[in-house]
Amino acid sequence: MEATILAQLTNALQQIVGAEHVSSADSDRNLHAKDQSSHAAHLPDLVVWPETTAQVSQIARLANENQVAITGWGAGSSLEGNTIPLRGGIVIDFGRMNRILAVHQNDFQVTVQPGIFYKDMNKTLAQYGLFFAPDPGANASVGGMVANNAAGTRTVRYGATRDNIMALEVVLANGEVIRTGSRSVKQSAGYDLTHLFTGSEGTLGLITEATLKLHPLPEHFSAVVAAFASTPAAAEAVYGIIGSGLNPAALELLDADSVRYMNTLESVDLPERPLLLMEFHGASAATITAELELVRQVCDDCGCTYFEAGVGRDERDRLWEGRHKLGEILFRIYPDSIYLITDVAVPISQYPVLAAYTNSLFAELHVKGALFGHAGDGNLHTVAFGRKDDAAQQVVLQTFNDRVVQKALALGGTCTGEHGVGIGKQKYMVYEHGEGAIAVMSSIKRLFDPNNILNPGKVV
Ligand SMILES: Cc1cc2nc3c(=O)[nH]c(=O)nc-3n(C[C@H](O)[C@H](O)[C@H](O)COP(=O)(O)OP(=O)(O)OC[C@H]3O[C@@H](n4cnc5c(N)ncnc54)[C@H](O)[C@@H]3O)c2cc1C
Repeated sequence: MEATILAQLTNALQQIVGAEHVSSADSDRNLHAKDQSSHAAHLPDLVVWPETTAQVSQIARLANENQVAITGWGAGSSLEGNTIPLRGGIVIDFGRMNRILAVHQNDFQVTVQPGIFYKDMNKTLAQYGLFFAPDPGANASVGGMVANNAAGTRTVRYGATRDNIMALEVVLANGEVIRTGSRSVKQSAGYDLTHLFTGSEGTLGLITEATLKLHPLPEHFSAVVAAFASTPAAAEAVYGIIGSGLNPAALELLDADSVRYMNTLESVDLPERPLLLMEFHGASAATITAELELVRQVCDDCGCTYFEAGVGRDERDRLWEGRHKLGEILFRIYPDSIYLITDVAVPISQYPVLAAYTNSLFAELHVKGALFGHAGDGNLHTVAFGRKDDAAQQVVLQTFNDRVVQKALALGGTCTGEHGVGIGKQKYMVYEHGEGAIAVMSSIKRLFDPNNILNPGKVV
């Protein structure tokens, strides 16, 4: 950005949020140039930390009048370049807008500002016996979760972020503030703007408040570990469990390599075979015991080689901590590698086909990595690694990604179950949705953001 324009913009932003909450320092720009993906960093010109909706509104109006890009920032934990400010401009870091505004305990709802991290929010909500169910591995912000429609291990039972939002407050590109949705569980009044903003990755508006659906903390639960001779066999059991009408609160698939990586944590000691990690919640111990018996039978029918049910609270917490840390462990073990994360999802009946295909692709393309996924909702991840300095390997990783996505689309699925489109998935959008649907999405983008200032270069 040209120096005089930058100086004018900085001055105007300082008037809005105070001088100490605007920065053009290299350290702050670097910290907001990149998410957790392998996509190349891009520096913003300025970072601002607003505290109120009114300030966000004034920032948007200023940026719109000057046609300067704005990119929202929660925790920066995206995995598809979603937060990378491709056109520079202003990054709005929502870190100072991190308050719980109201706990509607009797309605199982909470209203929060977007910058609160969901794990911190859940610690407070536990005092009310409630929790917000979507649980991406990283400690993401609520704004980032809404913007990416994040999901996690508990989605199989409680849904993704989209299924747990009641209402939003949003600042539009021109600075106008609107409210969408209501606190009523049933809502049928007009176009569903709440869910249009959800998953829009900050390209349609800036979320400044969210009312979320909560659940009572389960009183009775049990974790289960089941091992299988092969990854495809474990994936078949996933279909068996869901097909039997069981209602797991989590159903995760891990290949043997993923288990080996998890076992590098001192707190985890799992059999190094393809595994299903499960959790069941129930109103009484008796319901869970009956459910676990059925799980055992289904797993046995699917060739289970090891089964442990009734895992207690401490061990269960360690298992889920290990599962949530899997991504971090992989990045730590291969710090100098370029990595590619796939995030496809398919209808549950096709999950075994997808898992078998992806499993064989590692050997066929000689790719190093691990396969795991939120199996209960048909979501399969792989992390594939290659050397940074080896251009040929990077081409192979892209081929790996393309082949996995093509297979998922052929099976009736999607290129991204939860990480969003960001930069890396844009090339698949027309294949997945068709030219007509993409044209409609582009029209929606132009309607909400005619000057293309909101996270430009993302989604469509
Ligand atoms: C180790 C690891 C494990 C992960 N596991 C999962 C997983 O299991 N499931 C899953 O879904 N994701 C997972 N993720 C990805 C990531 O945590 C989620 O996408 C999360 O929702 C991002 O939240 P964030 O606060 O970091 O958002 P950011 O990365 O900061 O931003 C995400 C997007 O939202 C926009 N944005 C941020 N705040 C706002 C706002 N207030 N208004 C409008 N737009 C905004 C940004 O511009 C960007 O486009 C994982 C990431 C890591 C590093």
